[in-house]
Amino acid sequence: MSRKTVTDKAERLKKNYRVILVGPGQALVIGDHDTYDVIKLSFRWSCNCPWGKHRGRWSECSHVVAVRQAQVDPHSQAPVARLAGLLQELKQMKESA
Ligand SMILES: [Zn+2]
Repeated sequence: MSRKTVTDKAERLKKNYRVILVGPGQALVIGDHDTYDVIKLSFRWSCNCPWGKHRGRWSECSHVVAVRQAQVDPHSQAPVARLAGLLQELKQMKESA
């Protein structure tokens, strides 16, 4: 996978609001096939996808790239706000049922 492809995929993930920042050093990325945990270790980010596990030491996977981009982009707060709204709606639906 080339660096360009990884960046393109990361950009697409972010546009689709599939990066959820759980905390300052923790994020959840909903990928094409699965949901991945991206966590910040002492000096680098780590992802539990197959690429991140085997190649992440040398090259960051698209999930880590997406999380890093989301962190410097103020629009990254939108998914969290949207998630909170969705959970609230779900709760209200259950209560009124
Ligand atoms: Zn990954």
